[in-house]
Amino acid sequence: MSDQHTSSASLASLRPPALLSGTPRFAEPMHLTRPRVPHERMFAELIASIFRSRWFTNDGTLVRQLEEALQHRLGTGFCAAFCNGTVALQVALRSLDLSGEVITTPFTFPATVHAIEWNGLTPVFCDIDPETYNLDVSRAAELVSDRTSALLPVHVFGNPCDVTGIDRLAEQRGLKVVYDAAHAFDVVHRGRPIGCWGSLSVFSFHATKLFHTGEGGAVVGPDDVMRRRVSLLRNFGIVNEDEVCGVGLNGKLSELHAALGIALFELVDEEIRARERLTARYNRSLAAVEGLRFQCRSADTLPNYAYYTVEIEEERFGLSRDELHIALRAENVLARKYFYPLCSQNEPYKYLPSAEPAKLPNANRLASRILCLPLYGELQEEDVDKIIECVLAARAAAPSVRAAVARHALLASGSSA
Ligand SMILES: *Cc1c(COP(=O)(O)O)cnc(C)c1O
Repeated sequence: MSDQHTSSASLASLRPPALLSGTPRFAEPMHLTRPRVPHERMFAELIASIFRSRWFTNDGTLVRQLEEALQHRLGTGFCAAFCNGTVALQVALRSLDLSGEVITTPFTFPATVHAIEWNGLTPVFCDIDPETYNLDVSRAAELVSDRTSALLPVHVFGNPCDVTGIDRLAEQRGLKVVYDAAHAFDVVHRGRPIGCWGSLSVFSFHATKLFHTGEGGAVVGPDDVMRRRVSLLRNFGIVNEDEVCGVGLNGKLSELHAALGIALFELVDEEIRARERLTARYNRSLAAVEGLRFQCRSADTLPNYAYYTVEIEEERFGLSRDELHIALRAENVLARKYFYPLCSQNEPYKYLPSAEPAKLPNANRLASRILCLPLYGELQEEDVDKIIECVLAARAAAPSVRAAVARHALLASGSSA
């Protein structure tokens, strides 16, 4: 109960939220993430080596060096670097000769579902588990039909899917499995690196991700057969000077991007440890707040602390997620509503039978309840404390915040009419 005491004592001393006082706690926008930059000397040396060799792309030294380092770190049979995670997803699906339908989650970044559609395949949305936010495997089993050729689950926010359940289902029904591991760099689950599960896994090295190359991504998998297929598709399907096979595309990572990756690779441990400390700091103050819930982390996992998300239970918190989002924006805290709108609500997909909201109750509920708070290695502890204060101040003044949000909405609709 002493926690209760300290938190109500500190609540009393909170100054009012910016939405009421007009004074944001942050003078400058506090972004969700801030990409890490490399040590300048090392990066400059790598760039100079590219300039000397004039080798900018096509299986260059630096791409190969990065692939080797990643393959080692990610513990997979091979790692093929790509220009981005989306093209990596497209190629991963293409390399498995799929047809018909692919079962996936609506609670993800749009690229996951687009990659299915770009392959001329039909996405079938499956609801998620309300605790882990990942694909509900028993629902997926019900959606498998004779048109299904693969599953494309996402390790959402780096939390491992029910990989053994998915393995079993895939085995029983003869399905391929491609994991979208865009959030799961470096995660280890049940003693195995995350990229070891399924037929293939895909990472994104976009600047907003835990480890990045500016733009970039990778397909990882078990063996040389898949390595060859993926590599061919990544380079137009060119086998040699005299032969092109398969509908390839250009998915190559450039040497310049690889240089960034190599230079940042040695900072990734530090990045993860910093995020771990900041996560603990958030948790100390937010874990016991009534009306906040948290993603249930899969057991037997070494996490990567890529994201910090909270689930807002409107009735107990006093504010909806959207109201809190607006209150934080007034403080200059640019929290994000991941993943809203759900992919199943987006124009190209909302007419699919599987996209009906009634069939995806958990995903629809979570899409309206989750907020992602700023988290990155260089974020200062004082700033985390201030962000926490923003959340607690909004909660402490919930009825007035709600009224202020409604007033703003009214003003906005009035001025646009
Ligand atoms: C970032 C992301 C992607 C796409 O990666 P890009 O490298 O930006 O193309 C795919 N899936 C998920 C879940 C992501 O978060």
